[in-house]
Amino acid sequence: MSIATNLSAINATLQTNHAQLIAISKTQSNENILAAYQAGQRVFGENKAQELAEKQQLLPLDIKWHMVGHLQTNKVKYIAPFVELIHSVDSLHLLEEINKQALKNNRVIDCLLQLSIADEETKYGLDLDEAITLLRDPDYQTLKNIRLVGVMGMATNTDNLDQIKEEFYELKIFFQGLKQSFFRKEDSFKEISMGMSHDYQIALEEGSTMVRIGSAIFGKRQVADEQTYSEELDA
Ligand SMILES: *Cc1c(COP(=O)(O)O)cnc(C)c1O
Repeated sequence: MSIATNLSAINATLQTNHAQLIAISKTQSNENILAAYQAGQRVFGENKAQELAEKQQLLPLDIKWHMVGHLQTNKVKYIAPFVELIHSVDSLHLLEEINKQALKNNRVIDCLLQLSIADEETKYGLDLDEAITLLRDPDYQTLKNIRLVGVMGMATNTDNLDQIKEEFYELKIFFQGLKQSFFRKEDSFKEISMGMSHDYQIALEEGSTMVRIGSAIFGKRQVADEQTYSEELDA
């Protein structure tokens, strides 16, 4: 299957759900990314800040780049000039650094709060209480160069479809609770980023507005990356 064929099959599913496709291009060659671009895809996501910044330099300027992986504060500066959405905010400290770098670049950076919904303790993300504490913090209120537009979560890596469904449902309920309590008047707080290659159909049923799909578009990643990927999850 070609990249273009994969994309059109996925887009056909997404259309009925009005969800946005983020093509996860980590470890993919510029050639593969351009094949997706030529098939009409404009939004791409990466999980490493430096790789993201390098690709942004070399690829078409109208690509919208999302950061989906764990972000260290000292790496924010590489992506702050151009990143369209950061999916993986998991602390006030990180949000403050994003705000600082956004201010330097004279822009407002959209972010999602990454919430922990999976069984696996290795996965990053805030639990609901921690998210509420962050949103109540007076320091959060002072941040003018970031805008929270929703939540992101990753389900447990399991074949148990009922469990995945439960976890995505939980994320949607968390989203609705935060929306009610903190963002009632903000129409921009509307995104639920959930669903990857193996579980995006379930995520769509549960109300996902953004799916992050890599291997179902580009094929299997290099083995070397699978290792760093699980190392990152284990870190
Ligand atoms: C790699 C990655 C994806 C995409 O995974 P696939 O299984 O290849 O679709 C989605 N979200 C995050 C945070 C990732 O790191």
